[in-house]
Amino acid sequence: MLDRIRDLKEKFKADISRVKTLPEVEKIRIKYLSRKGEVAELFARLKDVNATDRPKIGKVLNELKTHLGRELENLQSGLQRKTDKKALDLTLPGRRPFTGRKHPLTKILDEIKTIFMGMGFRIEDGPEIETDYYNFEALNMPKNHPARDMQDTLYITEDIVLRTHTSPVQIRVMEQSKPPVRIIAPGRVYRRDTPDASHSPFFHQVEGLVVDEGINFGDLKGVITAFAHKMFGSDIRVRFRPSFFPFTEPSAEYDFICVFCRGKGCRVCKNTGWVEISGAGMVDPNVFDYVNYDSEKYTGYAFGMGIDRIAMLKYGIHDIRLFFENDIRFLEQF
Ligand SMILES: [Zn+2]
Repeated sequence: MLDRIRDLKEKFKADISRVKTLPEVEKIRIKYLSRKGEVAELFARLKDVNATDRPKIGKVLNELKTHLGRELENLQSGLQRKTDKKALDLTLPGRRPFTGRKHPLTKILDEIKTIFMGMGFRIEDGPEIETDYYNFEALNMPKNHPARDMQDTLYITEDIVLRTHTSPVQIRVMEQSKPPVRIIAPGRVYRRDTPDASHSPFFHQVEGLVVDEGINFGDLKGVITAFAHKMFGSDIRVRFRPSFFPFTEPSAEYDFICVFCRGKGCRVCKNTGWVEISGAGMVDPNVFDYVNYDSEKYTGYAFGMGIDRIAMLKYGIHDIRLFFENDIRFLEQF
C-alpha cells in the first residue's frame, strides 16, 4: 500500500510538471482528487489493509490528499498571475493623461496684464456685487440720470447691483490712495442682455485709470496705440471718435484698423476697415470731487476694453457664447 502511495505521488509530480494552462490543472484535480479519483480509490482499498497498520496508512493517505491539494492550488495561482500579466501588454503605447489648459479668455487676460504691467500699470480688483453708489453715483450718474439707461442693469435691491462695468474700481482705488494712480482692473461684469452671437448677460472688461499732474489726452492715445501694437501687430492703427460717458470729459470711442483685413474691408468689419473696441476719455473733474482729489492740480484718463471682444478678434471667434458653453472640442484648440 505504501508503494502504491509513493507511485501515485511520482505520477502526480510528472503530471503537474507538464501543465501549462488553467484547464489542465482542473483536469489533474479531477483525476486525483475527485470523488472517483485516484486518491479516493486508495482510500477505498484501506479496508483491505490489516487493522494494525490501518491508522498509520490512513494518516499517510490524508497527508497525501492535503499535499496534492496544496500543490494544485499553488500551480493554479501561479498560472493565474501569468495570464493577468499577459493581459497587461507592456508594449502598448502609454495613454496620455488628461491635462487641462488655460481658458482662451484667461490667456488673453494674461497677455493684457503683461502688456500693461510692462507700461508700469498695477493690477486692481473689486467686487462684482456692487452698490449703486460705486456703480453709478460716484461715476457722475446720480439717480434718474438718463445715462443709466445706456446700461441694462441687474438689480438685487434698489441699492445693490451686479456691476455693469469695471469702472467702480476706479472710485474704490482713488478713495484708498493718493495720486499718482496707474492701474488696470480686469473682471466680470453683468448686463440684462439676451444672449446672442455678440451679447452675453455677463462678459469681461479691463478698466484702465491713470491720474497724475499733467496727464493729457495724448498720453491716453499713446497707451492705447502701444497696446494695439503689442496685441495685434505694429501695423495696427487706432482712431478715436467723439462720444459721451458721464464720468469722462471729453469722451471717445476708439477703434482699431480691422485685424482681419488690415483695413481693406471684410465681413467682420462690415467693409468699413475698422473694428470698434471700447470707450475712453479724460476723467471728469466731478468724479475727482467724489474722491477728494484736487481737480485743479490733477488730471487723468480712463479707458475700458472688453476681454471677450479682444479674444474674439485675436482668435477669429464670431460667437461670444462659445466662451461660456464649456465645450471641450472648442476649448482644447487654444
Ligand atoms: Zn475687416
